[in-house]
Amino acid sequence: MNRHYDVAVVGRGIVGLAHALAAARMGKRVIVIDRNARATGASIRNFGFVTVTGQERYDMWPLARRARDVWADVAPRAGIAIEQTGLVLPVRRQAAVAVLEAFRQTEMGEGCDLLTDVQLRALDPETPFTPCEAALVSPHELRVEAREAVPRIAGWLERDMGVTFAPPATVIGCESGLVVTSTGEVRADAIFVCPGDDLNALFPDMMAEHQVTRCKLQMLRLAAPGWRMARPVMSDLGLARYEGYAALPEAAPLAAQLRAEQPELLDVGIHLIAVQSADGSLVVGDSHDYGDAPDPFHHERIDSLMLEEFAAVLGAPSPVIERWIGVYASSAKQNWFHHEAAPHVHVIAVTCGAGMSTAFAIGERVVGAALNTPIKEIA
Ligand SMILES: Cc1cc2nc3c(=O)[nH]c(=O)nc-3n(C[C@H](O)[C@H](O)[C@H](O)COP(=O)(O)OP(=O)(O)OC[C@H]3O[C@@H](n4cnc5c(N)ncnc54)[C@H](O)[C@@H]3O)c2cc1C
Repeated sequence: MNRHYDVAVVGRGIVGLAHALAAARMGKRVIVIDRNARATGASIRNFGFVTVTGQERYDMWPLARRARDVWADVAPRAGIAIEQTGLVLPVRRQAAVAVLEAFRQTEMGEGCDLLTDVQLRALDPETPFTPCEAALVSPHELRVEAREAVPRIAGWLERDMGVTFAPPATVIGCESGLVVTSTGEVRADAIFVCPGDDLNALFPDMMAEHQVTRCKLQMLRLAAPGWRMARPVMSDLGLARYEGYAALPEAAPLAAQLRAEQPELLDVGIHLIAVQSADGSLVVGDSHDYGDAPDPFHHERIDSLMLEEFAAVLGAPSPVIERWIGVYASSAKQNWFHHEAAPHVHVIAVTCGAGMSTAFAIGERVVGAALNTPIKEIA
């Protein structure tokens, strides 16, 4: 802690680690500071789903493509297994087929196929899909087990990339060249603060300026169902939620139909994502509850609604073996922001629930611009 560093990063979630990686690849001496000895926030509570297809078209989609490539490069170096690749989105409504057809006409549809029900069953014979009108199949996604992957990235950065991880310390202030923590001070030329949804402790004014609030999600793990799912699964509801689809004009009739047919699910922000882990268990979610201080409780009714949507796409669910809640920073104003709070003190937050999918690319962009240094390929 007493040395002088080129770069200090606050936060060892995926956004902080992405900034530490970018700086380390520029040859900088980097220290990461977090109040906890391991990540415990959104970065280990998510699906581990690096989603490209469906991200907002003009900024998030290119960021996600680049971040996916960084994940593919980093995963084997850090000892992280890629659990699944790609995405399948079977839809049950003609209005949803119209959205998928329009999506495929855009540059975002590159590499994606639109299959019939029969073609889908031939492609994924082990997955018990219920009948669908059509299915979008994308090759672009990666899925890792977040609770294992994020600590492994930290271990690899420390072991192989020369990044220092400070003993646990709460950061209580940042100014140019100086990070003040509960256990002492750290001096660094550039500081990148990546505090996730905990922005109000250090930069309350920034929360107001960027209209940052919180989003609480409910998640489930189901026992291994005895069948394999070749790729992560989403449903019609995702087309009304992910901006890459939802911003298309063809999505408006679908949104109206979903509102009429599934109002309760929309009211609690449910859309279906189901992914499979190495042991065969399924991670299923999620719901979205927005507010500065969402209640901390798990609601059984929300779980039932999520399982209802699961059953509509994949048949009867296996027993629930784990439930958890996750929270991320959220904003209706922008998907992410980078704000220079003081000279060389940068604050970064992903405010749309896509940090796993974009952080590596955001880190490269922010650190590259801040330090004006080219990133070297990892040897
Ligand atoms: C349930 C759920 C599902 C999700 N699914 C996906 C998905 O499938 N795909 C996807 O792309 N994204 C997904 N997301 C979003 C993604 O997880 C987040 O965007 C991302 O993890 C945010 O990372 P972060 O590093 O900013 O925050 P965090 O992981 O919260 O990390 C912030 C870190 O900063 C530290 N910190 C904060 N303040 C201080 C301080 N003052 N001093 C010291 N340390 C401090 C905290 O201890 C913490 O370790 C999901 C999120 C949730 C909750």
